[in-house]
Amino acid sequence: MKVLDLQCSAAHTFEGWFGSEQDFCAQVERGLVQCPFCGDATVHKKLSAPRLNLSGAKAPPAEAPGELAPRRQGTAPLPTQEAEVGQALQRAWLRLSQQVLARTEDVGDGFPEEARRIHYGEVPERGIRGKATQAEVRALLDEGIDLLPIAIPEHLKNPLQ
Ligand SMILES: [Zn+2]
Repeated sequence: MKVLDLQCSAAHTFEGWFGSEQDFCAQVERGLVQCPFCGDATVHKKLSAPRLNLSGAKAPPAEAPGELAPRRQGTAPLPTQEAEVGQALQRAWLRLSQQVLARTEDVGDGFPEEARRIHYGEVPERGIRGKATQAEVRALLDEGIDLLPIAIPEHLKNPLQ
């Protein structure tokens, strides 16, 4: 395979892959080699650095390989989507927190005790919220008491107290 630097009559440069240079010439004569940018079939080999080097002069620095291909602009929609998902989650969390606050009674540190009293029917069933340590939460769950650990945003809590 031979990789050739090619140029169309509109001075677009691109790479072409051919079995040999004769192969390239034959394809150009039949108009089979076209510029990928404008479709121009008037294509010739670009004067390349190695060719200049044959004259004994110092070769100019090789061109950046990216020049031959149209550079793809990064679409990069991801950070925006992630931000939208994050905002949606935060809105859902705020809504849930507001519902919990509206439908439950704050029993504070007495939560494990009160949860047990409700569970064992000592007091009428109602929704409560409060604080519990990890160990207390585990003990309550072991006793079959349903609870939902949730972090209520501070700014929602405070105006109610
Ligand atoms: Zn072109």
